[in-house]
Amino acid sequence: MKDWLRQLPKAELHLHIEGTLEPEQMFELAARNGVQLPFVDVGAVRAAYKFDDLQSFLDLYYQGMNVLHTENDFFELAMAYFQRAHADGVVHADISFDPQAHLTRGLDLATPFDGLTRAMQQAEQTIGMTSALIMSFLRDREAAEAAEVLEQARPWHDVIAAVGLDSAEQNNPPEKFTAVFERARALGIRRVAHAGEEGPAAYIRGALDALDACRIDHGVRCLEDPDLVAHLRESQMPLTVCPLSNVYLKVVDRLVDHPLPAMLDAGLNVSLNSDDPAYFGGGMQNNFLACHEAFGWDENIFRGLARNAVNAAFVTDARRAEILDAIDHC
Ligand SMILES: [Zn+2]
Repeated sequence: MKDWLRQLPKAELHLHIEGTLEPEQMFELAARNGVQLPFVDVGAVRAAYKFDDLQSFLDLYYQGMNVLHTENDFFELAMAYFQRAHADGVVHADISFDPQAHLTRGLDLATPFDGLTRAMQQAEQTIGMTSALIMSFLRDREAAEAAEVLEQARPWHDVIAAVGLDSAEQNNPPEKFTAVFERARALGIRRVAHAGEEGPAAYIRGALDALDACRIDHGVRCLEDPDLVAHLRESQMPLTVCPLSNVYLKVVDRLVDHPLPAMLDAGLNVSLNSDDPAYFGGGMQNNFLACHEAFGWDENIFRGLARNAVNAAFVTDARRAEILDAIDHC
């Protein structure tokens, strides 16, 4: 099963590129850019990955990305992810990045955009892996700042597949960003949003109603609202679930307690994703394998989950058909 899962063609829809920064690369970039890390070695970084909740992770996540300074740093970060994901059988990835986390520490917008898009092109040319870029707003910062970033990103609007909403969910409801997302809609840019990870089911409704999101990132708390579940089932709204992330951030105590089987039983459109693989126990293969071990799912269930992801991915129709065909033949 392990080998079969690895070669199953997968699309990853919920992936923060800054969350793919492995400790080894963190030290390499810190040394190159003269950044002092508050860790003595790689082992100390890994030992710090004991999170109490989303906020305790975010504190470390923002600290880690301080080592990213140049266009080439972003290029190398993304290429390292593409290569690892490729080895996990990922053939397409919708990668998200957090421009505000870089602008607020003095970088310009071109630095992440140019490095990431160069890596995306190279990954397609060298390993045949396609990708799309999601520009995410930090929901624990002011909506006006997100609006400013969206305008500032005007030169790259044609390379943004969607805007997203991430970071600390509690007390930052989707409605705070209604105007920014309306602006994105007017510009013809798709919208996705994290909702119902730590926040309540009402935030999922908010992401659908106020933000007109076409995908919900996480969404695991939808089960608290039966009417919402019925709506998500009828609309087949894609929910990008991240099993190991939910365990690491204590959304659930153990994977066997995860609502994923109940979500599938409810007929919801679920996909499996790694979120921040450097921090949450590994990439797509580890997530798929952990679900196999926790839930005993067979090949047919994993094929269905892989299809869900490809159907919701930001790819051309031709590429979607190609990947779906490959899934059918594995
Ligand atoms: Zn996420």
